[in-house]
Amino acid sequence: MGPARKGTGMDPTYVLVLAIALIVALGSVGLIRARIRATAPDPGESPFAVSTEGMKICARCGMGNLWTEGRCSSCGRPLKG
Ligand SMILES: [Zn+2]
Repeated sequence: MGPARKGTGMDPTYVLVLAIALIVALGSVGLIRARIRATAPDPGESPFAVSTEGMKICARCGMGNLWTEGRCSSCGRPLKG
């Protein structure tokens, strides 16, 4: 090993660097989780999802309409097939 530091156990600078690295690592995990939530939102959480099972969701008001409906039953907006 290289020249060993004598005296007070761990170098305070080394401890500080470790603490910063830990904070950065935790922050990165938070960002990754946020990105996953942003790119793949839970369909149950978004009232404006494009479609759900057997329903067409109005892009304007979020009303759920039957697939057979051509217009939103709430606001009258034409629904995409
Ligand atoms: Zn609508």
